[in-house]
Amino acid sequence: MADIILTINAGSSSIKFAAYEIDQGKLARLALGEIDGIGGKAHFSARKGNDEKTGFDLDQSHIAVDHRMALTAVMDWLEKEQNGANVIGVGHRVVHGGPDYCEPVLVDTAILAQLRSFEPLAPLHQPYNLAGIEAAHDCFPKAAQVACFDTAFHRRHPFIADTYALPREYYDEGVRRYGFHGLSYEFIHRILRHEEPVLARGKVAVAHLGNGASMCAINSGKSVGSTMGFTALDGLPMGTRCGQLDPGVVLYLMREKKMSADEITDLLYKNSGLKGMSGISNDVRDLEASTEQSAKDALDYFVSRVRRNLGGLCAELGGLDCLVLTGGIGENAVNVRKAILQNLEWFGIQIDFAANARNERIISEKGSPTVVLILKTDEERMIAAHTAELLNLKEPLVPAIA
Ligand code: ADP
Repeated sequence: MADIILTINAGSSSIKFAAYEIDQGKLARLALGEIDGIGGKAHFSARKGNDEKTGFDLDQSHIAVDHRMALTAVMDWLEKEQNGANVIGVGHRVVHGGPDYCEPVLVDTAILAQLRSFEPLAPLHQPYNLAGIEAAHDCFPKAAQVACFDTAFHRRHPFIADTYALPREYYDEGVRRYGFHGLSYEFIHRILRHEEPVLARGKVAVAHLGNGASMCAINSGKSVGSTMGFTALDGLPMGTRCGQLDPGVVLYLMREKKMSADEITDLLYKNSGLKGMSGISNDVRDLEASTEQSAKDALDYFVSRVRRNLGGLCAELGGLDCLVLTGGIGENAVNVRKAILQNLEWFGIQIDFAANARNERIISEKGSPTVVLILKTDEERMIAAHTAELLNLKEPLVPAIA
C-alpha cells in the first residue's frame, strides 16, 4: 500500500486536492481533483496521472455535503484507485499565517486555535482553510496535518516594507502588508535555484499573473517586497478583484452610495478587475476574443499596472537580474506578455518576441541585462514538498521532481 501525501486547498464551497507518492525520494503526483458545490449539491471530479477526468455527484442522499463528507469521498476514491492508500501527511493551503509564521507548521490543537485568531485578517478564506484541516483530521486521524501559508514567504520583510503610514498601534495589532501567493513564489525560486543558480542568487522579480495576480521582489532568495498588502485585494488588478484603490473610494461608496461592508466586499472581490472593467469576463482569452472597447481597456489597464509595479519593485531591489512570469496569464497569454515587456530596452529588458510567441522558457534576447523566463508554478507540489520535509521524509525537496 502506497504512502501518500495529500494536499488540500479548501474554500467556502470547494476543495481542490492532489495526491503524491514518495517514490525513491521524489514526489510523484498520482492524482488531482476537486469537489465543488460544498454546502449543497456537490460534484467530485478527479484525474489520475494522465487518465481522463472521472466525475460523479456526491449528494445522492440529498444531504448538503460538508468538508468532511467531501474528504471522505476523496479517501474512498483514492483507496479504490490505488488499491489501498496510506495517507501519512496532509498539507493544507492556509491563506494567513499572521505576523509570525515564516514557515509551514505541524498543526495541533493549540496551533489550530492560534490560526483561528487570524480569521479576521482573511474572513473570506481562513475559516474554510481551517475547516479543511479539521475535516482532514477526522478523515485521516493518523496523518500529520501541515499548514502551509500564503503569507510565510514574505514574513522577513523589513518593517518599512510591511507597514502602512498609520499610527504604530495598527501595525502592532496586525494591520500590515502581508503579501500573498508565497507558495507560488517559493516554488518558482526553488526551480530557479535548481536551473539557474547564478540568477537565483541575484535580484529577481516574479509576476504571478493568474486569476489572482501579484508580483514579488526577491533578493538573494528572500522576499523583500510584494504588491499585495493587508489583503489579497491590493496591487495588480485581477480577474474579479480591483487591485490598488484609493481608500477614499471606499469612503465614497459608504457615505454617498450607502453601501454596506458586504456590498463593498462583493464589489471589490467579485465584480471588479478584468470582469468589472470589461463587463464581459474575468478571462483574458474572452477579452482577447472580444471586439468591445471595454475589453481592450481592461487588458490595457492590467498591462499598465504590471509595468508600473515592475518599476517599483526594481527600484526596491536596486536592479534586476531576472524576471519570471508565471500563472495562467504569465505562462500562456503571449500578447499580454508582449504588451507588458515591449519598449523596456532602456530598462535592461530586451525581449526576443519570436521566443515569446513560441512560449519558450527564456524569452529575453541573448545578452539582455535582465533574463526573462516563463516558468510554470505548482503550489500543490510546494505544499506536498513542505509536508514531506516536515515529516523528515527522504529528500522530497522541490525540484527533485519525478
Ligand atoms: P488561478 O489564479 O485561479 O490559479 P490561473 O493561474 O489558472 O488562475 O490563471 C487563469 C487565467 O489565466 C485565466 O482566467 C485566463 O485569464 C488566463 N489564461 C489561461 N490560459 C490562457 C491562454 N492560453 N491565453 C490567455 N490567457 C490565458
